[in-house]
Amino acid sequence: MEKASNFIGGEWSIPEGAPKIVSVNPADTRETICVAPDSPASEIDRAVKAARAALPAWRRMPPPQRANIIRRAGGILADRKQALGELVTRECGKPLTEGLGEVQEAIDMAELAAAEGRRLYGQTAPSELPNKLCMTFREPVGVCGLITPWNFPIAVPSWKALHALICGNTLVYKPAEDTPLCGVEFVRVMDEAGLPPGVMNLVHGYGETAGHALVAHEGVSLISVTGSTETGRIIAAECARTSKNVSLECGGKNAEIVLDDANIDIAIEGALWGAFGTAGQRCTATSRLIVEEGIHDELLDRLVASAGDLKMGNGLEPGVQVGPIINEEQAIRVLDYIEIGKNEGAKLECGGARAEGPGLEHGQFIQPTIFTGVTRGMRIFEEEIFGPVLSVIKVSGLDEAIETLNDCRYGLSSAIYTQDVNKAMVAVREIEAGIVYVNGPTIGAEVHMPFGGVKSTGNGHREAGMTGLDIFTEWKTVYIDYSGALQRAQIDTN
Ligand code: ADP
Repeated sequence: MEKASNFIGGEWSIPEGAPKIVSVNPADTRETICVAPDSPASEIDRAVKAARAALPAWRRMPPPQRANIIRRAGGILADRKQALGELVTRECGKPLTEGLGEVQEAIDMAELAAAEGRRLYGQTAPSELPNKLCMTFREPVGVCGLITPWNFPIAVPSWKALHALICGNTLVYKPAEDTPLCGVEFVRVMDEAGLPPGVMNLVHGYGETAGHALVAHEGVSLISVTGSTETGRIIAAECARTSKNVSLECGGKNAEIVLDDANIDIAIEGALWGAFGTAGQRCTATSRLIVEEGIHDELLDRLVASAGDLKMGNGLEPGVQVGPIINEEQAIRVLDYIEIGKNEGAKLECGGARAEGPGLEHGQFIQPTIFTGVTRGMRIFEEEIFGPVLSVIKVSGLDEAIETLNDCRYGLSSAIYTQDVNKAMVAVREIEAGIVYVNGPTIGAEVHMPFGGVKSTGNGHREAGMTGLDIFTEWKTVYIDYSGALQRAQIDTN
């Protein structure tokens, strides 16, 4: 059995006497993937001190040189894509095609971040005074704590770490307790690519222990977290208490709108992929399907038939489309929501229970589940379930569709299927979400585009894209006076 070590100051080690976290394959819980330590606060302190010590040299290294290391990391990720993709599948359960796709996302992110080494542009501006110049520089924030979820155990750390590193920050990274080995392998790649010791440190542990110690540590300047909205709120409050920057990427309750004139084939495929890909365990998963009344019945019949045909199982087996739920606790939560939906009066069209059958005996599998007759105000309409449960809502037209979509505390991703460009553009304008897809599912972000959401989903930041740099840099404004005299700004000379 593998032991997942911490990585501090360039050394792999396991803190003595730390309680153990056991990571298992959610598709077959008899398989232990690794054992990781639940690191105590003293270990977090060691990691933060290592990151602090590495900061001066790393922030002074010219960004194009930092970029060389990131580019090499991208190359190593590409060399190991198959093995890493398989590890993602074994440790978090998603089908191998998705595991490989996720590693590809990290490779793409390395390309994006490395290229930034030759940009990191600031601005120059004229001064209100003669013989004076105004300009801005991006500067690293300092030691950044990265806290990541289990559902994208390579891609999300890569979004955060690679942008943070190119900007000159040093890192303490705490992966999710369900996927520590993916965390180890990602950091191993960064180490082998040539990151100096202490620049990226890894500490395992639970959120309430190691995660909390990292968030509370005075030596950390910024926390970037992807997780549930509840977790984000707790972390943001602690960051306020200890004066840290904080970037939140939290929950979603994403909706796909299908209008009567939509191409029904791609709307159904989009809903299936959006709702049941990664067994619905993506922050961008489609959990509400808002359908105009004219197309509703046909769409529903075909959707339910297709959902029943999806192949469930161990993601390493060819053809598997829906994998397991990450752990028993989450499986129970999803099943509870299914009961809530029934009790609220929604109609269960398919699924609704644990999936059974050959190959499913030793994992937490839940059938793709579709409810119709869902109305605003129901808990299954409002709350993030993070499982393969889709709520279908019938509406009378575009206006009601948009109003229904926006009746939501979250605002991450959204989609509209229509052939009518006018309606599509009204939706693009009116939808309250960070991401809108026209004729595409709610999932499938590209790394060079900003990622994040409005309302309770986030706190105004966007990861990846160009905007990821804004999270991991502070602006420094510089005035250069070459007049040879004291010039006073803001003096009204008229
Ligand atoms: P998910 O819903 O994806 O399981 P969580 O919000 O539970 O997400 O966890 C996301 C990440 O946040 C994990 O790495 C977890 O350990 C961490 N975490 C959870 N609670 C806290 C906390 N109170 N302080 C710091 N980190 C936390």
